[in-house]
Amino acid sequence: MSTKNDCIKRARKLECAPCPFCGGLPEIRTLAHSGYTVVCSVCGSRTKVAFFQGAKEKALKRVVQKWNMRTPLKAGKSINWEKIFKCFVEAINKVNAE
Ligand SMILES: [Zn+2]
Repeated sequence: MSTKNDCIKRARKLECAPCPFCGGLPEIRTLAHSGYTVVCSVCGSRTKVAFFQGAKEKALKRVVQKWNMRTPLKAGKSINWEKIFKCFVEAINKVNAE
């Protein structure tokens, strides 16, 4: 089992960018020996799982790429919580309507 610290170190080694939402340190977690996901250690936002599919190194690269492709916050720009909250409420309403 890798500890939280190991996951953060691994993310740093592979040059994962800081969390685009809160600037927190990312962790690369291994899921049930089947795939990788990058998770923010502060706000918990995460990428989809990149499954090994027989090629662990490729999956690792893929998941880092996914994480780094997220739009970073521009310098000096603060998080628009109102907008995030609105999206969140819309998503919940959508689920409830189904
Ligand atoms: Zn975050």
